[in-house]
Amino acid sequence: MKHVIALDVGGTGMKAALLAQDGSVLFEARRPTGRERGTEAVVATILDFAADLADEGRSRFGCAPLAAGVAVPGTIDERNGIAVFSANLGWRDLPLRKLLGERLGGLPVALGHDVRSGGLAEGRIGAGRGVDRFLFIALGTGIAGAIGIGGRIEAGAHGYGGEIGHVVVRPGGPRCGCGAAGCLETLASASAVSRAWAEASGDPFADAAACALAVDAGDERAVGVWRTAVDALADGIVLAQSLLDPSTVIVGGGLAEAGDTLFTPLRDAVNERLTFQMPPMVVPAMLKDTAASLGAGLLAWDLLSMEVTA
Ligand SMILES: [Zn+2]
Repeated sequence: MKHVIALDVGGTGMKAALLAQDGSVLFEARRPTGRERGTEAVVATILDFAADLADEGRSRFGCAPLAAGVAVPGTIDERNGIAVFSANLGWRDLPLRKLLGERLGGLPVALGHDVRSGGLAEGRIGAGRGVDRFLFIALGTGIAGAIGIGGRIEAGAHGYGGEIGHVVVRPGGPRCGCGAAGCLETLASASAVSRAWAEASGDPFADAAACALAVDAGDERAVGVWRTAVDALADGIVLAQSLLDPSTVIVGGGLAEAGDTLFTPLRDAVNERLTFQMPPMVVPAMLKDTAASLGAGLLAWDLLSMEVTA
């Protein structure tokens, strides 16, 4: 059975799979990243995990994997296969593609950005399957995004394409970690909602999920907190709609777990704001926390098809 290695390196855990050409998962595994052990140990763990996955493939299918795809957080130079910077994992200018290629005996390796890889998987085999143009938005600790065009992700000229979390929706609003004020992620990330709800409810441990439950229970304070996030998100989506005109907006990440509590008012708020733009379908992501790993595997398959074409 032809297969590739798919690996997603997160701040706390690594998710891996062996992926068939149609995107189906043949084998899955997880390991802790163990970043408290330092950057060098993390890199050694990534290389060991990839080598073990190659062995797993050989023993299960009688043949070596054809390629490997790895998704990592932070700033990536996809063309040169370099993990440029990750505040979380501590590396700078790490030639990860080269290191993995050497460890895997010269196997072709694709290096991808975690959110853009997740977006690729959602667009191709998840909530956006069959959709040519989509926008993927992940509402987590921050807000990240990916622009899908023609079956691939547009990373931009410098690798920052799709960063919808740093679109300013409230000029002069809350300070953002990026240095600007009023960025979308200061108002509509899961962390922003958690902070706002902790303050409004007086419970320092209250989080976004608790806020969603309180909205469902009709708590007026929660409804106010939720409204602020939904309105900001709708403004961000409408801005993206005017620029990119996607047919589908796929929303994932922790906050999307709220289901209809989020999607019903969000769709209304987007539609209210549209003037000439065509309304996008606003849908929940399907692949949950395996999206980036699956996307890394798809990048590996893409690498092989590019080699055949070239
Ligand atoms: Zn920002």
